[in-house]
Amino acid sequence: KSPSPPIHLIVMLLVTYFLCTVGKSNALTCPLPPELATKLHVDPVAIDSASTDYGNIVHSEPAAVLYPSSIEDIQRLVKSSYNCPIPFGISVRGNGHSVNGQDMARDGVVVDMKSLRENKTGIKIRVSRNHLFADVGGEQLWIDVLHTTAAQGLSPVSWTDFLYLSVGGTLSNAGISGQTFLHGPQISNVYELDVITGKGELVTCSKRNNSDLFDSVLGGLGQFGIITRARIALRSAPTKVRWSRAFYSNFSDFIRDQERIVRGGHRDVANYLEGSLVLDNGTPTEWITSFFHPTQLPQIMSLVKTYGIIYCLELTKYYFIEDIESEIDQDLQEVFKHFAHVPGFIDAKFVSHQEFLTRVPNAENESQTHPWQNLFIPKSRISDFNVGVLRDIVLKRNITTGPVLFYPLNRHKWDAQLSAVIPDEDIFYTTSFLHTGGIDNWQVYEDQNKAIIKFCEEAGIKIVKYLADYTTIEEWIKHFGSKWTTFRERKAKYDPKNILSPGQKIFNGV
Ligand code: FAD
Repeated sequence: KSPSPPIHLIVMLLVTYFLCTVGKSNALTCPLPPELATKLHVDPVAIDSASTDYGNIVHSEPAAVLYPSSIEDIQRLVKSSYNCPIPFGISVRGNGHSVNGQDMARDGVVVDMKSLRENKTGIKIRVSRNHLFADVGGEQLWIDVLHTTAAQGLSPVSWTDFLYLSVGGTLSNAGISGQTFLHGPQISNVYELDVITGKGELVTCSKRNNSDLFDSVLGGLGQFGIITRARIALRSAPTKVRWSRAFYSNFSDFIRDQERIVRGGHRDVANYLEGSLVLDNGTPTEWITSFFHPTQLPQIMSLVKTYGIIYCLELTKYYFIEDIESEIDQDLQEVFKHFAHVPGFIDAKFVSHQEFLTRVPNAENESQTHPWQNLFIPKSRISDFNVGVLRDIVLKRNITTGPVLFYPLNRHKWDAQLSAVIPDEDIFYTTSFLHTGGIDNWQVYEDQNKAIIKFCEEAGIKIVKYLADYTTIEEWIKHFGSKWTTFRERKAKYDPKNILSPGQKIFNGV
């Protein structure tokens, strides 16, 4: 009787055969470890879910989706690709909230981090009260980080507006919101990372150990490694938030008052600063109706009618159990006394810290598209941007549907060694056009997005795209500017076979 072949060999051959016949390319002709056999899915449900994202505009099919049940599974997958004569691309889907296919891997493998999250088999959220940090799996959502840390009276200092995003996903970009002017982006508030590099090595890195890898990964668009753990800075959580919004009819007044706060003129008063545009496009958006009393809405809308665009400055003051409400209120009134908002067009309310941070609900609708554009604009050209973009393009076209955010950030809160790119000025603005389109009409918004970029190029306004979506290497080289050489060298060092994050279309072509 001849000896039977080892079981793992049979499984490996079966998986390879299955994937070769079903997969659309040579991506999965590579030998794969038997441990992944039941975790790699090629069924239409898995493929469909990894072929789209929140934007719902780019659709790109992977050959398979990995539902890992451990960090080792991810490591095995990366090693398989690295050791294969023709490596395949691997993208990580943190929570699929990219808007231009950045989390996809055509003909490669998408690692769906949801399975670690839902099966609780990744790194759980562990809080150190003594050292004021939380160790958090890269797959975890910020909403869960909020709940776990709040239960211990603590909180991360820097947030995004929306919390149903994964820790790995926002740290691959920057993670910005109204706290960024004070604490820097989320990538400035990380002490340590565990990362699986493009060679399949699991490396712990920080500013002290393997600092080059640490700096590469933060803001690195998933190019250098897969974040499996992040150590996030914490502070005491405030108990309450005084949340104010004031309207301006004049752009110069609006930005002057925002900049006063960012430059530290009212440091003690604002823990959060944002701003937005209100456009004359019919009915008030949910953004207005959810904050202001219904009796105020007609007045607000008539102000918009008069000016075409009005500007809303939004700030909050956090306060703690020992603070006295009336004093906080007095402080705020003192600040607003010096501001040039339209008299009477101001409102404020007290909410809990958690209520404030969860102000943007988790709503998804598959019949919608999100042709979003996020830009950083140097302060020195902000008036030109106002005239050429806000008034001549946005106001005249009158198609903008979702919120338009507009607020300043300061360069010194960003660590220049990290991969993220920002304008080369002390103060720069971030603006986000958060359009909601239908399945068939998203191109009109994309046209407007392109018109804005074209205007800035022609006017010599050196904008930087946040969550950039370029498709050619030339565009990426221009985007990274003086950081390009380092970015490329780091890629060669940590992911020499260009395996990671092909959906960003930097090193792998379209
Ligand atoms: P995914 O879309 O799943 O992945 C995005 C990129 O990150 C991909 O390249 C992926 O490969 C990489 N990646 C994901 N996980 C990892 C990991 N563990 N290790 C390495 N790379 C990884 N951004 C802000 O800064 N501030 C905001 O207020 C904000 N609000 C948003 C609100 C909404 C409704 C949406 C849709 C987006 C918002 N964003 C905001 C943008 C958001 O931060 C990015 O799109 C982010 O990448 C989404 O996180 P995700 O977990 O869904 O990432």
